[in-house]
Amino acid sequence: MDETSAVIDVIVIGSGFGGAVAASRLTDAGIAVTLLERGPWRDTVATRSAGIARTTPFPRDLSLFTRLLRSLRLPGSPRLTLNRHGLFDIHVDRGVSIICSSNVGGGSHVYSGLQRLPHVANFWDGHAKDVSTASLQQHYEAVLADMGSPMASPALGLPNTTYQRYANSNVIETPSPEGPTWLGFLFPAEPGKPQTIIDANGITRNQVDVAANDDGFLGSPGGGKTSLDIAYLIPAMRKGLKIRDLCEVQSIEALGDQSPARYAVHVIDHHSGAKQRLLAANVIIAAGGLNTLRLLLRSRDGTKTLSGMPNLGRRFGCNGDFMGWWDQAEYGDITAGLPARGPFRARGPEDFPVLGGGAFPAIDRYPLPHFLKQRLRRVQWIAGIGVDAMDGVARWTGGGLRVDFNGDNSPVFARIKAGVRALVELTGKRIHYTKNPITVHPTGGACMGDSIATAVVDGNGEVFDHPGLYVADAAALPAEPGGPPSLTIAAWASHVAARFIAQRNASR
Ligand SMILES: Cc1cc2nc3c(=O)[nH]c(=O)nc-3n(C[C@H](O)[C@H](O)[C@H](O)COP(=O)(O)OP(=O)(O)OC[C@H]3O[C@@H](n4cnc5c(N)ncnc54)[C@H](O)[C@@H]3O)c2cc1C
Repeated sequence: MDETSAVIDVIVIGSGFGGAVAASRLTDAGIAVTLLERGPWRDTVATRSAGIARTTPFPRDLSLFTRLLRSLRLPGSPRLTLNRHGLFDIHVDRGVSIICSSNVGGGSHVYSGLQRLPHVANFWDGHAKDVSTASLQQHYEAVLADMGSPMASPALGLPNTTYQRYANSNVIETPSPEGPTWLGFLFPAEPGKPQTIIDANGITRNQVDVAANDDGFLGSPGGGKTSLDIAYLIPAMRKGLKIRDLCEVQSIEALGDQSPARYAVHVIDHHSGAKQRLLAANVIIAAGGLNTLRLLLRSRDGTKTLSGMPNLGRRFGCNGDFMGWWDQAEYGDITAGLPARGPFRARGPEDFPVLGGGAFPAIDRYPLPHFLKQRLRRVQWIAGIGVDAMDGVARWTGGGLRVDFNGDNSPVFARIKAGVRALVELTGKRIHYTKNPITVHPTGGACMGDSIATAVVDGNGEVFDHPGLYVADAAALPAEPGGPPSLTIAAWASHVAARFIAQRNASR
């Protein structure tokens, strides 16, 4: 194992909404940060223009078979790493399946680009002193400005929205969501006429081409989606942020407060296969809702190099996620458009929960027979979202991570399923969905709060019983936003970084 005696000021683990924002803010403040990301840089118009040397294409054509999955974990079996350059991590467990991704830029490459404030009113109030909905507001605004996300509006001229599709339906309605939705894409000035541009940071991007539908959950090779490598990481690198791609953290070791290095971070560099032990004064974990828990639990209960954290793994939730598939043959080819197409629900005496939906991306590039691709062109994926009981438990057992979640404890899933059954009855069509939730929004497990008796991190994001160790991603959220969470995660990371900078300035 390589060991270096140099002490890094801040190591950030993971480069999604939590890690990219935290690392960028600290770099802007002149702090020396090394970011460790297990996934690769993705090959896009943007990363090419920035001169990133080692990149991996998004799964397309035959590589869809080899690069779609990074790892797969089925109940009762160990996690299988299939391809370290793979896009998705799938964890199937007791009562829940969890999907996340692996890239420099994290989930921003695969997400649908919907950015919303929490659906829960006064989301940040009452969890920890000095943290409130009002104090977080500046961070939401800063992230929206950094990402340049426009508000969704008919002026964008988007095709195939639910508003258009169901305008004349007697059985489906399209209630407007409360509050604005921002879209994390670079739109053409004139709808339907995308151009190639060079942004303010000198990064080349193709404006989103909604006719091509190549900017969905299989990545955005043209850079039409505002992924975090574009918005934060490449600009921060130019200011000194050090990014190590394909560098996976295996465990964290507390060294005590006596030396400047309070933590050792054990990594494996997938470029060389070498194992290294990096020393750091501070560590910010932002490996995503699932993998932050894996890392902390493994370090505490597997390698036994961390201790304490009595509430670690408790209050894990799925943000009320529900997923299904619906053949919309009567509407023909529905592929043109943004990844997500707007809200809809069954008309009825009851206020059914609002669903969202979209089409499969980049179908032309699937290595499948023509008739199957034609079939997929009319399939809509549908999603429900909300607030569940957040009563799941993650633990380290038998050398691996196990998550137990019982959707029957959360009325939200029954309500969403009732709304889906109403759609089936009213339209006479079949909708396929799973019994247990599939979530792309794992939340909690290392929750923020006022005391170690109920939470894992304090209002600064710092682990109560491990000074200098922080959680800046979805795992730290004190509750579920009940809507798309990426903006809330980014705002939390911006807040954690701001508190870190303020404390450092005060101590000097
Ligand atoms: C298909 C899909 C569509 C979505 N659509 C939306 C949407 O429209 N709006 C929305 O708000 N949200 C959406 N989401 C959810 C959103 O992507 C996540 O909530 C968000 O990315 C979580 O941010 P994060 O920083 O917590 O983690 P991530 O973005 O998952 O980032 C974590 C990073 O850490 C890395 N990592 C993990 N373990 C290690 C390790 N041991 N060492 C080093 N690096 C590690 C991972 O590779 C990853 O890059 C969607 C998700 C999916 C999968």
